[in-house]
Amino acid sequence: MKVPLLDLKPQYDDILPAIREAFEKIFAGHHYILGPEVFELESAIAEYCGVKHAIGCSSGTDALVLSLKAIDIQPGDEVITTPFTFFATAGSIHRVDGIPVFVDIDLRTFNLDVEQLEAAITEKTRAIIPVHLFGQMAKMDRIMELAQKYNLKVIEDTAQGIGAFYKNRTAGNYGDIATLSFFPSKNLGAMGDAGMCLTNDDELAEIITLLRTHGEHPKYIHKWVGLNSRLDSLQAAVLLVKLPKLAEWTRQRQENAAYYHQHMQDIEQIRLPYILPDAVSIYNQFTLLVQNRDELLQYLRDNEIGCNIYYPKPLHLQECFSYLHHQQGDFPMSEYACENVISIPIYSELTREQQDYVISKIREFYLNK
Ligand SMILES: *Cc1c(COP(=O)(O)O)cnc(C)c1O
Repeated sequence: MKVPLLDLKPQYDDILPAIREAFEKIFAGHHYILGPEVFELESAIAEYCGVKHAIGCSSGTDALVLSLKAIDIQPGDEVITTPFTFFATAGSIHRVDGIPVFVDIDLRTFNLDVEQLEAAITEKTRAIIPVHLFGQMAKMDRIMELAQKYNLKVIEDTAQGIGAFYKNRTAGNYGDIATLSFFPSKNLGAMGDAGMCLTNDDELAEIITLLRTHGEHPKYIHKWVGLNSRLDSLQAAVLLVKLPKLAEWTRQRQENAAYYHQHMQDIEQIRLPYILPDAVSIYNQFTLLVQNRDELLQYLRDNEIGCNIYYPKPLHLQECFSYLHHQQGDFPMSEYACENVISIPIYSELTREQQDYVISKIREFYLNK
């Protein structure tokens, strides 16, 4: 049996006619960038996430860069984040000439270890970017407490966390700004690149809106140098068709996760995802900590089960950040995670048969150990 890590086909089979119809409307009007679909999507996402403002842009990466510019990060300003995340989180800090300062993760949740956060704050610290990794939110209440104490801005990297909850508040409602990615493999994915910034702050919303079109206001007058980071009408149209289904897709991912938990908790060599009692994960990934990781990866792939390593190398050990002078051992939990994690299929349309097959192959692998 073939079980891909992610299969977009069943999702699109359902909605392609509606997407075609929406595209035909755009083809009739030829308003391809920042058309009415974009503004409709911004309102709809703001409502879904329970925030006041949503500003569409070209990608999740650009959403981070726009946010960092909006809070006025200057060369040499330190921004704290996790080394166990997708590259863009720290890459964006570098892009605005900030200095990424890493804090290790709590191995249970794979998110920033709030117990180690305060020790990393210096005179130069200006902001924190917690990441809601794999669909579970970071401990935002503690992070906001520290941010208030030291007068820091907070940008929630919510690329993997749209609709997640922590202590009854959704992702995007703790920090000054939250960023979304609509990369095709995210829980809400476009048919190309797209992203968004969320905020409850009127002034930040206005600044981000200007920055996404070169800081231009009024036309041909520039107070700041911004980006060309506008959202396509076609991508917005795809997302508008998908958004009403997102809650149901999320529920299916959560059911799939519950099924794995129910049927794999007795396997000693694996640790299933740990979700904090106060958190609701949207399971962008279902990530295990396992023994004999590389062998298991190969075994599952040999049996046509899609799986992947998110992430194989922590950011503090990436060559492009060698100027930070980190070495192996600096962030042991992140390094341990990189060596022992594996993500298995969790997408909404996964069938019970497919899940049973995945579970049986994992069992079979450890039976022979
Ligand atoms: C996907 C992702 C991004 C970047 O989003 P793009 O739309 O691909 O630019 C940033 N941070 C995290 C944690 C991500 O998973």
